[in-house]
Amino acid sequence: PMSLSDPVKPHRICVCVRKRPLNKKELAKKEIDVVTIPGNGALLLHEPKQKVDLTKYLENQTFHFDYSFDEDATNDLVYRFSAKPLVKTIFEGGMATCFAYGQTGSGKTHTMGGDFSGKSQNSSKGIYALAAQDVFTLLRQKRYADIDLCPYVTFFEIYNGKVFDLLNKKAKLRVLEDEKQQVNVVGLQEVPVSSVDDVIKMMEVGSACRTSGQTFANASSSRSHAVLQVILRRRNFLHGKFSLVDLAGNERGTDVSSNDRHTIVETAEINRSLLALKECIRSLGQNSEHIPFRMSKLTQVLRDSFIGENSRTCMIAMISPGMNSCEYTLNTLRYESVLP
Ligand code: ADP
Ligand code: MG
Repeated sequence: PMSLSDPVKPHRICVCVRKRPLNKKELAKKEIDVVTIPGNGALLLHEPKQKVDLTKYLENQTFHFDYSFDEDATNDLVYRFSAKPLVKTIFEGGMATCFAYGQTGSGKTHTMGGDFSGKSQNSSKGIYALAAQDVFTLLRQKRYADIDLCPYVTFFEIYNGKVFDLLNKKAKLRVLEDEKQQVNVVGLQEVPVSSVDDVIKMMEVGSACRTSGQTFANASSSRSHAVLQVILRRRNFLHGKFSLVDLAGNERGTDVSSNDRHTIVETAEINRSLLALKECIRSLGQNSEHIPFRMSKLTQVLRDSFIGENSRTCMIAMISPGMNSCEYTLNTLRYESVLP
């Protein structure tokens, strides 16, 4: 079990894992839970006791992370140890970024979005709303109220290497980089907000925009990265920015056999951007001179969000516990465990 004390001072990069419970469908199919979280940031992918053909998956492996959360962890608890310690950063003039990574169905949107307001029965707020809540709490504190910070929200989607504004009818936006390597998403709506409810309204508007009006029958929302940003401006100048990123599903490889050209291009683009993200975070962790931001639109657009002295990043890997997800789960854990 996790210690419930407050997390220690955040380091620049924090890597967590969250296991979701087996769902009804998996339970009905008698899926086996192959993931154990012994506590203290270790995670074990174990061989289930029942007799199963495991020849393909005989990898009784242990992985280590800053924090790992089992199926009983609430969004609140996950938030407290992952994104919450980053909120202060944006008040101190820095950049914060939180990523939700994992295969489709592993709980990325549940963790980030929750049910937005947490008002309906048996539901809870996700990291978007919890972070927004803390931002408004800090804004009211005297030391920050005095410096006159104004909060804004942006919400956009990156699909197939293109940026779409979820707060402006999915308008396609251009990304420009100036000679100082400042990246600008031209025309991105920055909506002023004055309460948590305002932020929640924007989440709803953006999420509805994300899932409706899709040209393809398969839920293409799982094939795109969604980025919600809470921005603080001081006399119109950028003061701090918190980017909360619900990444595209990382189930790669499965589509290689596909003959559908569109799917192949889509998959290649997702693989490329997730690889770019890994390389950038690794380079950042090693304080490398060269960070390969231009490898993908995702990393290019987030460039200023996770570069610089006063920036903090946290990555939450979501995993499904079922035997049938084993291959994806291992992919996810391997991806995360090479991060600093
Ligand atoms: P993803 O965004 O990664 O594709 P979702 O967040 O949509 O996955 O989750 C898939 C389903 O599993 C949803 O119905 C969601 O409510 C449920 N779920 C995910 N994580 C949890 C959790 N930790 N506890 C309970 N239900 C969860
Ligand atoms: Mg999702």
